[in-house]
Amino acid sequence: MDLSIIIPIYNEETNLAALNARVSAVLDALPLQTELIYVNDGSRDRSLEMIREIVARDPRIHYINFSRNFGHQIAITAGLDLSTGAAVVVMDGDLQDPPELIPELLQKLKEGYEVVYAKRRTRQGESAIKLLTAKVFYRLLARITSVNIPLDTGDFRIMSRKVVNALKQMPEQNKFIRGQIAWIGYRQTFLEFDRSERAGGVPGYTYSKLIGLAMDGITSFSDLPLRMATISGFVVSGVAFLVMLYAIYARFFELQSGTGWPSIMVSILFLGGVQLMAVGVIGEYIARLGANSRQRPLYIIDDTDLPDVLPTESKS
Ligand code: UDP
Ligand code: MG
Repeated sequence: MDLSIIIPIYNEETNLAALNARVSAVLDALPLQTELIYVNDGSRDRSLEMIREIVARDPRIHYINFSRNFGHQIAITAGLDLSTGAAVVVMDGDLQDPPELIPELLQKLKEGYEVVYAKRRTRQGESAIKLLTAKVFYRLLARITSVNIPLDTGDFRIMSRKVVNALKQMPEQNKFIRGQIAWIGYRQTFLEFDRSERAGGVPGYTYSKLIGLAMDGITSFSDLPLRMATISGFVVSGVAFLVMLYAIYARFFELQSGTGWPSIMVSILFLGGVQLMAVGVIGEYIARLGANSRQRPLYIIDDTDLPDVLPTESKS
């Protein structure tokens, strides 16, 4: 197998026909042995039926059906685990990532790179809030991590088998794949493209899923929030010490120091806030430690047409 395309699908019934037609046209034009893997991530619409029909018509196309919604990053992981291509492309299923870019990505990979990621020159059809939060997040992440995670990129990229094999050795539960790929190293480069708006349907990434992804990105690649908790502890103690010196001075030299109620309230509330925040930060890291120590499988496959994945008795 020369090239695998992995597309996670969550409620994409309005886009599947056009998506499949466009990707198939691109693959037809390539003089390569290719496979296309749809990973159905617990869609609640007709996506699965549509995928099954597509798969029945074209031996080049395969599917993996999850037992429930496990999330975009996990769907990509399953596709990578079961792909066999010497090069692997990951792209979204809502036509925001143009399949027509694949030949260019492939060309660039052949120039001797192991990863070519597609960088968003412009983004259409996203709300101002989303554009702003994404921009701030990627810049914040770049500042607090030691890994050079490329700015303004999603998971649309091509990678060599070397990189896929390296990814498979990273068993963490809370995946931030674009960060993991940056962490792996090798020669990486990018191509720019204009990101169009979602062809149809609604984004599967709710704000809570996006916040989860952002937290996974930060906690997987930086310990700075933990250090900030320690630093804020030192700063607050330092300020408290100065206040204490002042209180002693005021007491013995009989300066007026007020009734004391506002200052006590402010310091209790402030300290309480700092402490809760620090505990919350520690909690985020501990929750991820917990998830990893449970060692559950990352995903459960309900059925698939790919060989050697399911035990024979449950194969449908
Ligand atoms: N997706 C998924 N599982 C989810 C949410 C999204 O597999 O829980 C897929 C979705 O079908 C699409 C891709 O991930 O192919 C990107 O999702 P979306 O377009 O909602 O994200 P956005 O473009 O807004 O970042
Ligand atoms: Mg999208």
